Amino acid sequence: MNISHIEHIGIAVDNLEESIKYYEGVLGLKCYAIEEVVDQKVKTAFFLVGSTKIELLESTSPDGPIGKFIAKKGPGMHHMAFAVKDTDEALKKAEERGVRLIDKVSRKGAEGLNIGFLHPKSTNGVLTELCSKKE
Ligand code: ZN
Repeated sequence: MNISHIEHIGIAVDNLEESIKYYEGVLGLKCYAIEEVVDQKVKTAFFLVGSTKIELLESTSPDGPIGKFIAKKGPGMHHMAFAVKDTDEALKKAEERGVRLIDKVSRKGAEGLNIGFLHPKSTNGVLTELCSKKE
């Protein structure tokens, strides 16, 4: 699958501004981008920790994926994202190996990355995202 590193860890939060205060004020990290991904009904905030990012996700609608997640489980860790060379190729390989996919083909995520999700039922309960940079 050609995983190079953990690209980011996604964390579902109730309130982006309040959560940023913790990451900046307590952990001393710096929020370098805030971006709304209309498609996924989320507002995101990014922090860099080494070569791995923390992606905070606030829902913009109760019927979006993060809105539903928080309603069911409350705020907390939502997914882990691996950087791969080619998301579509990695999704295809995962499917060939019997993994249930959420996305059959990649779509556009925050920061313009090509992203695709593997179903947590096939990944030991961890919602797993694969992402690659757009050529
Ligand atoms: Zn993500």
